[in-house]
Amino acid sequence: MSTAQDPTIDPAASAGSLTLQCQFCLTWNRVAAERVADRPKCGKCAKPMLLDRPFPLTEDAFTRTVAESTLPVLVDFYADWCGPCKMMAPFMDEIAREYQGRALIAKLDSDRAPRTSLQHQVRGLPTTVVFKAGKEVARQVGAVGKPQLTDLLRKAL
Ligand SMILES: [Zn+2]
Repeated sequence: MSTAQDPTIDPAASAGSLTLQCQFCLTWNRVAAERVADRPKCGKCAKPMLLDRPFPLTEDAFTRTVAESTLPVLVDFYADWCGPCKMMAPFMDEIAREYQGRALIAKLDSDRAPRTSLQHQVRGLPTTVVFKAGKEVARQVGAVGKPQLTDLLRKAL
């Protein structure tokens, strides 16, 4: 029992959260939206979870991240050999910085995630898919500029 309990409701507490697997020790962490900009650390290994840039997903982490994160998740399906993907990468970096705490900007190497790519009918690269509460709400096939990517994300905000 705490007598110092703050009776006011923190408006940010209902702003949503991200469910992310630590890239280093593979522990799952929940990060509240209002904590995203504070360079959150993994609860187990204390390594930083860098959310000011596209967050790399894996085949195994994809489904849980998308399903359990209550903030919108934008996924850039790309491949290392894909020239247009490289052209679009700087825009993804900018959007990740600008939308920290409002959305998760993630990337998935399509070559390393054939099952997920097939499941989501990714037939050309880059493919950008926006999810909200685990459901696809918007999709863009092919490279586009930053305004189009922002518009795509905004469909889930
Ligand atoms: Zn960790």
